[in-house]
Amino acid sequence: MHKNKIWLSAPHMGGSELKYIQEAFDSNWIAPVGSNIDCFEHDLEKYLGSGHVAALNSGTAAIHLGLILLGVQAGDAVICQSITFSASANPILYLGATPVFIDSEPETWNLCPIALEEAIVDMMGKGKKPKAIIAVHLYGVPYKVDAIRALADKYSIPILEDSAEALGSSYKGQPCGTFGDIGIFSFNGSKIITTSGGGALVAHSKKLKEKAIFLATQARDAAPHYQHSEIGYNYRMSNISAGIGRGQMEVLDYHISLRRNVHEFYVGLFAAIEGVTVLKVPNATYFSNCWLTTILINPLETHGITRETLRLALEAENIESRPLWKPMHLQPVFCNYPYYGNRIAETLFNNGLCLPSGSNMTPEDCNCIKSVILKLFKK
Ligand SMILES: *Cc1c(COP(=O)(O)O)cnc(C)c1O
Repeated sequence: MHKNKIWLSAPHMGGSELKYIQEAFDSNWIAPVGSNIDCFEHDLEKYLGSGHVAALNSGTAAIHLGLILLGVQAGDAVICQSITFSASANPILYLGATPVFIDSEPETWNLCPIALEEAIVDMMGKGKKPKAIIAVHLYGVPYKVDAIRALADKYSIPILEDSAEALGSSYKGQPCGTFGDIGIFSFNGSKIITTSGGGALVAHSKKLKEKAIFLATQARDAAPHYQHSEIGYNYRMSNISAGIGRGQMEVLDYHISLRRNVHEFYVGLFAAIEGVTVLKVPNATYFSNCWLTTILINPLETHGITRETLRLALEAENIESRPLWKPMHLQPVFCNYPYYGNRIAETLFNNGLCLPSGSNMTPEDCNCIKSVILKLFKK
């Protein structure tokens, strides 16, 4: 058995992170205020080329504030891609709104434009026009940006772009995170960069960014005492975390290139294995950061080997892999909410597996994974 565990996606420090943390200590800004936060926001804005970024303490917080800024209130309906991490959908419930889940299309595994339009039309017929659309770039693969934007514009519904998994991905050369009316990122431990826990909201105006920061810092009015005329939240990023983020931004593009190499390794490995397909971007207009490489296994073509057979074979060698996100409409906590679509998301969940994809995987790690896979599929 492989001695050190091979993780799905482990943190990978660049080297400057401690220097920026030291700066926070030296200036005594051990607080959710300080120059690391300002600089990290600036680094992200520069990287994206547009937008105004507010650094927050999680991606989930960013989605929650994003929905508030889009005007979502109790009783509203909010559309959400079904196959995603539960954090995409939970904030809908924090607000007392109702999630409406949508199936995936098979090319990018993200929002199916046909099911999306069906849902919008049906909801409008019931006098319940959706207040927002949460669109996700799953595993770093951009959703069908033009098709989803066309529908959002046609029906005048804003998009909350969940780009938690897609920092560094782009569509037609434009960075993910800048397509929505509001975009969000996550810097949790397993994401493409980590701040040890954190997130960001991307707004299209300085005013909206300031409103996000106002809400994230307890909605304090301008007064010498603590005065509040709105409900606030404690969602700001810490200056220590932002220091890690600054160091991580220096190596983001390099780490993406390493993840893309891991992706190519899997493409080559599975090319000769019947019944296994690696999820790839549909064409050159899509660029994926390859956060996680994912595969589909068709047991009818693999003599019965399923994604679970492979997962267990890897686990026996101390290698982590994981089924795809279980669709929200199949989750006990969400299964009573409306769902539009067929069974694409379900089929993906049944047959899909996320493979170790970290930028710090070594050639030995890859060889170890390769030997498990070749051994299993040779039988
Ligand atoms: C990680 C993730 C989030 C939540 O981000 P946190 O920083 O963990 O709160 C939201 N949506 C998706 C799709 C994610 O993968």
